[in-house]
Amino acid sequence: MSGIQARLNAISAIINFKPGHPPLDLTKPTDIFGCNVFSDKVMRERLPKDVYKSLRKTVEYGEKLDPCISDIVASAMKDWAIERGATHFTHVFYPLTGMTAEKHDSFLVPDGKGGALAEFSGKMLIQGEPDASSFPSGGLRTTFEARGYTAWDVTSPAYILENPNGTFLCIPTAFVSWTGEALDKKTPLLRSNQALNKQAKRVLKLFGVDTKLPVNSFAGPEQEYFLIDRNFVFSRPDLLIAGRTLFGVKSAKGQEFEDQYFGVIPRRVLSFMMEVERELYKLGVPVKTRHNEVAPSQFEIAPIYESGNLATDHNQMVMTVMRSVAKRYGMICLLHEKPFAGINGSGKHLNYSIGNAELGSLFDPGDTPHDNAQFLVFCVAAIRALHRHGALLRATVATASNDHRLGANEAPPAIMSAYLGEQLTDVFEQIKKGKLKDSKTKGVMHVGVDTLPPLPMDPGDRNRTSPFAFTGNRFEFRAVGSSQSIAGSQVALNTMMAESLDFVATELEKAVKAKTKLNDAVQTLLQKLIKEHDAVIYNGDGYTEAWHKEAARRKLPNLKNTPEALPALTSPETVKLFTAYGVLSEAELHSRKEIYIEQYVKTIKTEAALCVRMAKTIIYPAAVRYQGQLAETCANLKAIGHDFKMITLDDVTAKMRGLQDAAAKLEKLMEHEAADTFKEAKHLCDKVLPAMLKVRQFADDLEMVVADDLWSLPSYQEMLFIR
Ligand code: ADP
Ligand code: MG
Repeated sequence: MSGIQARLNAISAIINFKPGHPPLDLTKPTDIFGCNVFSDKVMRERLPKDVYKSLRKTVEYGEKLDPCISDIVASAMKDWAIERGATHFTHVFYPLTGMTAEKHDSFLVPDGKGGALAEFSGKMLIQGEPDASSFPSGGLRTTFEARGYTAWDVTSPAYILENPNGTFLCIPTAFVSWTGEALDKKTPLLRSNQALNKQAKRVLKLFGVDTKLPVNSFAGPEQEYFLIDRNFVFSRPDLLIAGRTLFGVKSAKGQEFEDQYFGVIPRRVLSFMMEVERELYKLGVPVKTRHNEVAPSQFEIAPIYESGNLATDHNQMVMTVMRSVAKRYGMICLLHEKPFAGINGSGKHLNYSIGNAELGSLFDPGDTPHDNAQFLVFCVAAIRALHRHGALLRATVATASNDHRLGANEAPPAIMSAYLGEQLTDVFEQIKKGKLKDSKTKGVMHVGVDTLPPLPMDPGDRNRTSPFAFTGNRFEFRAVGSSQSIAGSQVALNTMMAESLDFVATELEKAVKAKTKLNDAVQTLLQKLIKEHDAVIYNGDGYTEAWHKEAARRKLPNLKNTPEALPALTSPETVKLFTAYGVLSEAELHSRKEIYIEQYVKTIKTEAALCVRMAKTIIYPAAVRYQGQLAETCANLKAIGHDFKMITLDDVTAKMRGLQDAAAKLEKLMEHEAADTFKEAKHLCDKVLPAMLKVRQFADDLEMVVADDLWSLPSYQEMLFIR
């Protein structure tokens, strides 16, 4: 079906939509929370005491897993899962495509007597061997040695996923090659947390803080997304294939009324949200807030923050659950960073801190002078890390889709800087000058002796233009794309932090050994570090041209797009950083860079091909039909003696020619063959993307003149405002 009929059917389907979901489920959320998780409570109930204790040690304190307990754990897990209707189990892993991967195996094995037994051994729990050859490895292994292993991640609990026809057990795993190289997003995250833990503990020790629990990253990702009616997607190949619109005139009404943000949530959307939340509660994902976002049909869901690894797995679940529940409500959940031009795109603010359950966030100033000194050390270490490795952090958010968003005055620019807020900046200034004055008492203040002026809990919202904003007890990294895993940025942040904390610990240990008082050593070190690294602090408007100039003067990298940003993954500084802390080897870094640039190339090539095809087979034909109608009218008028020139006909004809030429140019550019993937990417970025925009320009101009009943693509107006 094509043309106007498809649009009309879509609209009629929306108007007549009735969700086929069961009546209100009023079970208390506290009763369903975590009911499908092989949680601590379940383990305590079902495992022998010593096995439980041993497992807890691994989960909580990061101690090595005792392989002897795996059979017992597996058996308990299997019984629990089968009681809940599970027929299959799967190792869940996170390949470098950013997706969630799973391969199901049945518990059943024939018993040799015509019946069957349910089997699940320790070995099956600990290790899986999916056929890894179809996942990108970036040259880490060739197909003939395609073996990849999934290894049980004890720190992220197993859970059950439901389907109307049954359930299955999911076991979070790390995915590595047979030689032990990381092929996924989880492995380096676990390694980076280990590195962070080691260095953070050294600093804490200097402050006399002892904690048995490992110091980890904490992450709270605010997930933005669009919801539109699914019927539209079937007549929009761009949305179907690329997840974003390649054509489309801005709706007469966009987001300028500012009537959407925090507005009343549309009924169908709210039903969707409630079901998403219920599903996520069952999986133990602590989702907390829901609201309308700035753009029409854009929304946000945010959980309560958790330890980084768990939060990362949970965010993947959030994305999966949202996509699948949306279908049940006749909608599609668009996680693309820029589905619609001219209105805001979607990001994923990564609220990041480090700490543990005992200590809370180490980016929390605290009330005593002692706490403040410790806070300042961790905070300055973060500033140092960002200044030294901003380019790396930038590279972790470099994707074809996020390129449309970063620096487009709706998301922070590609320049990595930190926002500290007025008060903390003032404290930094004082330290830099050599003495710290309490802004209240005006007395001279010494780090570790006097208390900081109370910092506002959330100064962050006042500056949405900063990519890395201090918000009271954490940093909010706002450059992550809505469809991205939050693993990559955390891996970078954790490792950068580990290096800075290592540096700080070494300096302070030296000073203390030389009998300098800790407070004095801290004061001297902070002063030195702030002097060296405060170029990365910027509290002004990050969207302005002036900041771009100023940032250049401060020598902060401004890596505008993916081909410019990705090389930082293998820069000498990055290689040194990652190898020193055992997070990623040089080969692993190269493989990642290679995979990400390949993804960029594939994405844009697909979009370019789609752009040409849609221009030729959907947009041009609509214009031809209209042109025909106009020509016929012209001829008729001439036949009855009217002598006039029809401007619209000339106009349409000119635009059609423009469209044809632009599409032909784009096709020509797509024939280009580059020497290597990076050259290819550069060509796509510099030549092909602008050529696609040219095609779009003519197509959108046509959309503005061609009779609406001949135009077959659902319009922005329809997609964004009919719900
Ligand atoms: P806002 O929109 O004002 O930024 P939200 O409440 O939507 O705030 O999101 C804030 C996110 O930050 C939540 O996920 C919250 O749990 C998380 N968060 C709060 N404290 C920390 C912390 N110390 N470390 C990491 N994340 C945190
Ligand atoms: Mg926020």
